[in-house]
Amino acid sequence: MPGVAILGSTGSIGTTALRVLSRHTDRFRVAALTAFNNADLLREQIERFRPSFAGIVKNGSTPADATGAGDCEPWSIGPECLVEAARRDDVDIVLNAIVGAAGLDATLAALARGKRVALANKETLVMGGPLVTVACAQGGGEIVPVDSEHSAILQCITGRPGVEVRRVIITASGGPFRQWTAEQLQAATLDDALRHPTWRMGRKITVDSATLANKALEVIEAHFLFGLPYEKIEVVVHPQSIVHSFVEFVDGSVLAQLGVPSMELPVLYALTHPERVSDSGVPQFDPVAASPLTFEPVDAERFPAFALGVAAGRRGGAAPAVFNAANEAAVALFLEGRVLFRDIGPAIAGALNALGSTPADTRDALLAADSAARRHVQERFGC
Ligand code: NAD
Ligand code: MG
Repeated sequence: MPGVAILGSTGSIGTTALRVLSRHTDRFRVAALTAFNNADLLREQIERFRPSFAGIVKNGSTPADATGAGDCEPWSIGPECLVEAARRDDVDIVLNAIVGAAGLDATLAALARGKRVALANKETLVMGGPLVTVACAQGGGEIVPVDSEHSAILQCITGRPGVEVRRVIITASGGPFRQWTAEQLQAATLDDALRHPTWRMGRKITVDSATLANKALEVIEAHFLFGLPYEKIEVVVHPQSIVHSFVEFVDGSVLAQLGVPSMELPVLYALTHPERVSDSGVPQFDPVAASPLTFEPVDAERFPAFALGVAAGRRGGAAPAVFNAANEAAVALFLEGRVLFRDIGPAIAGALNALGSTPADTRDALLAADSAARRHVQERFGC
């Protein structure tokens, strides 16, 4: 039975993955779990799923926490637990479900060992796309997306040669501010931004969905995952989040993957691709109840982070890493209540102007660009 490591098991995707895996114990074994600092939930998960390895990045509690349950080794403590989990011999699939650039080394380590990376942690691919692609080719590993839009594209193109794809159209819910005017957006608060209309997710990606930075991250993610040039990747706003993406083929045919918004299917499919297995995780689709399905263009003026991100992807070099890190830093400050929603776009633009044209093709250069961008944003706000 393939062993699965879940990096970020206490988060939104991590807990969804454990729900999915609890329905498929005859097919997969939970081999490793890691969390950032939620020791209580991690301990519960260990008792229930009995992995052989557990890691926590920050363990604020008593040393007694660091004992295993069942066959679990003593917990590994510190950021290196991610790479340790990703490299283990009893791990075949690494579900990278942590947030942000901190997931890069674990993705690289798993790919270098020829493992499947079920990738939710899109920031990794945005920051180090060429590096990750090379690690994948050299190590013989594979990346299977967990992001629902990319899972949809994969489900539409599986079995077809890449030359048959004319373009892909990624759907975006439009987030909570889809119908807000530019003037209203000036006063948008954290509570407003966290009120996503169709998806329940972690706080960082929920804010990224409100600025549409998430959709720019997804355009760059699609570029690297599917080897598509940017002119073949489009985005359309689809408020109902039922169509998860479209693929247009060279004969003009358009395929799409549809379903009720739920991450259970993309998580399961990332584990079983190209197979499908019987599962009850997604509510049954009812076309009448889902009606009407509507589509509208993206308004890049009201959501500057979107255009900045796509331009950074096209520019290449350090620009995608700078975009990602500046966005992470600005969103972290917004989540702490230290900057306003309207500050996020200009903070990203400032970092890209100052740092976006450096070439960067090594891990060290990318990490340097990442740190410089974070510093740039923090200094801008005097933090
Ligand atoms: P979350 O905040 O709910 O969970 C994040 C997890 O990562 C937690 O377990 C946390 O302990 C861990 N973590 C955070 N920072 C860490 C660090 N520096 N080192 C190690 N572990 C760390 O986030 P989420 O919504 O589950 O998102 C996870 C990833 O999946 C993100 O990249 C997000 O963009 C992507 N994603 C999420 C969804 C969704 O529906 N939630 C959909 C598509 C893609
Ligand atoms: Mg998505």
